[in-house]
Amino acid sequence: MRRISIFGATGSIGLQTLDLMRRQGGPAAFHTVALTAGRNVAELAALAREFRAEIAVTADETCLPALRAALAGSGIEAAAGAGALLEAADRPADWIMSAIVGAAGLAPGFRALRHGGTLALANKESLVTAGPLLLAEAARHGARILPVDSEHSAIFQALVGEDITALERIILTASGGALRDWPLERLATATVSEALAHPNWSMGQRITIDSASMFNKALEVIETREYFGVEPGQIEVIVHPESLIHSMVAFRDGAIMAHLGAPDMRHAIGYALNWPQRAELPVARLDFTTLGSLTFRPACETRYPALRLAREVMATRGLSGAAFNAAKEIALDHFIGGSLGFADMAGVVEATLAVLSGQGGLGNAAKALDDVLAMDVGARIEAARQATAFATRRAG
Ligand code: NAD
Ligand code: MG
Repeated sequence: MRRISIFGATGSIGLQTLDLMRRQGGPAAFHTVALTAGRNVAELAALAREFRAEIAVTADETCLPALRAALAGSGIEAAAGAGALLEAADRPADWIMSAIVGAAGLAPGFRALRHGGTLALANKESLVTAGPLLLAEAARHGARILPVDSEHSAIFQALVGEDITALERIILTASGGALRDWPLERLATATVSEALAHPNWSMGQRITIDSASMFNKALEVIETREYFGVEPGQIEVIVHPESLIHSMVAFRDGAIMAHLGAPDMRHAIGYALNWPQRAELPVARLDFTTLGSLTFRPACETRYPALRLAREVMATRGLSGAAFNAAKEIALDHFIGGSLGFADMAGVVEATLAVLSGQGGLGNAAKALDDVLAMDVGARIEAARQATAFATRRAG
């Protein structure tokens, strides 16, 4: 029986992974090793009981008593904290879903590569912050990383059986997020609830806001560069409001392979879960007679400065992806907390990168995970300073 662990089991991706496992036989078909969550221990415990996990881990140590109580009598181990997440990753597993949100997902996924199994990677931050290290670690242990972002799963599928050297460009599609039809000058006034009204995809809170700001696509451009090893100039972004084409690969003979399907993450998750086979998946089937039209718009870098910043990060490489992501996470925290305007998020990230660049070292290659984690911490401190400065300016 396949041994499976899910990091971020209570989130949008984690729950959809468990939904597919349930449909494919549940605990009778999969041996669940570890399930982890942030603070939602009631749901974590219920899932651990249902899937008969060996261990349930909450990232928050203050939640351990509640997790223990919720698991009482089940025989399932309970643990808490960052160290416990790593220990959970040390438990041998064949297939690991990395679906914690943010840079917090990097270390457990990285650690899990030691088993030489499959890392299903929803946590795009891992590739953005530590792409070369992560791929080298996977190669060292004979582990496989399968992309679980819809775009990257689409590209991966379009490349099956192809010669990667014949690839000319990759066209990443973006829905444009909740505010795509807003006039540019109104964007600065967008509230959290307005940014959360995603037209096509149902996802976690943070990635949904990142879709509206295009920071999500900015991360995905970098993710594409790292995972597929293509040059930055080979990656295009296009706004495709219907989200039916999940991305495209163009070859040197002019052919373009597009991946189409309903906007449902269970496709990308299910593809990674069943790879190299294709299993029956519970996603809606497209009916082209009722679909109407597929439309496209350019992804303007004036409207979406995050895309321009992603280009700068790809030019700098080294530790700049870790700095970019950390600054973005802090800016997002401040927007969600109400102290920062929607359009100021990009300003905070840009100012943070400028300060760190002035200090030198941003382009240095990470030799170990600790280099990435140190940059992550430093960039968070600088970004918090910048966010406060932006908020003060806004108030004054
Ligand atoms: P989510 O917020 O719904 O869930 C995140 C999970 O991580 C939850 O289980 C939460 O409890 C846990 N968590 C949160 N903070 C944590 C921390 N500091 N330490 C440990 N655990 C923590 O997020 P999501 O939308 O499922 O996204 C997960 C990842 O997948 C992200 O990297 C996101 O970019 C990526 N992704 C998501 C989607 C989607 O449709 N939701 C699509 C593509 C990629
Ligand atoms: Mg995506």
